[in-house]
Amino acid sequence: MKVCVTAVGASLDAQVDLRFGRCAYFMIVDTSNMKFEALPNVGAGAMHGAGVQAAQMVVNKGVQVVITGSVGPNAHQVLSAAGIKIIAGAVGTVREVVDRYKSGQLQEGADLPNVPAHFGVGMGRGTGRRLGMGRRGMRAFSGASYQSTCPQPIVQWQPPEYSYQEPIYDQPAPPTSLKPQDELASLEDYRKKLGDELRSIEARTKELKDLAQKIPKINLNTCNGCGACINACPNRVLGLVNGKARVIHAEACTNCGLCTNSCPNNAIEIQSV
Ligand code: SF4
Ligand code: SF4
Repeated sequence: MKVCVTAVGASLDAQVDLRFGRCAYFMIVDTSNMKFEALPNVGAGAMHGAGVQAAQMVVNKGVQVVITGSVGPNAHQVLSAAGIKIIAGAVGTVREVVDRYKSGQLQEGADLPNVPAHFGVGMGRGTGRRLGMGRRGMRAFSGASYQSTCPQPIVQWQPPEYSYQEPIYDQPAPPTSLKPQDELASLEDYRKKLGDELRSIEARTKELKDLAQKIPKINLNTCNGCGACINACPNRVLGLVNGKARVIHAEACTNCGLCTNSCPNNAIEIQSV
């Protein structure tokens, strides 16, 4: 994909030029391999039509996205008509903004021009001080003056919403009102309760482990294949194989003992694995 980044210099490490129509260079960058073409903006000093001329040049270069600081209404119209996405408000080096665009951190959202026509006239090229002047120009741009010149649908500029939240500080613990001996007795009581709970958990754990390790064992010498145990088992653990009861689903056994009790020949015992 080809993107056009306005830049103050002719390298990937040059800063983004905040002015679209009057930028120093158009950096046409192939995002797949970061190869670029640096085009000096020959119309940067024109008194009129710099934005349109710049936009037309960008359109002719076949780029799909423009990344810049600000776009005036005339240039915006030309770019939009050509289906070129516009990302305004970008800051950083050319390389940085392209990387941010590739990773989805720059959103295509400049649905409207963000500066009035002729923005940047007389700013000159590329120094940090002049870029600062550009920012002042953007601050000076008000919704009212923009509406009078912009051919796009008018949208009243709204200041960004800020919400203030009280900072959260770690609160010091309130001083305890317990006397040391009372606090000690309370802690002892708590320790005993925790000990009781722990013993209860250990006992149940052992019980479950024992259950998991026991299954019915069938004495094939005394089993006559009557099937009583199979019918008694609620979990279908047992089955008849070659005329004898067999465990076929040991994992489902709950050690309930119903099979043992149902066998007329005492052929079943619950045993550890
Ligand atoms: S102990 Fe209970 S669950 Fe296990 S095989 Fe016998 S009847 Fe089925
Ligand atoms: S109930 Fe006893 S004799 Fe009958 S099948 Fe089961 S193990 Fe064998």
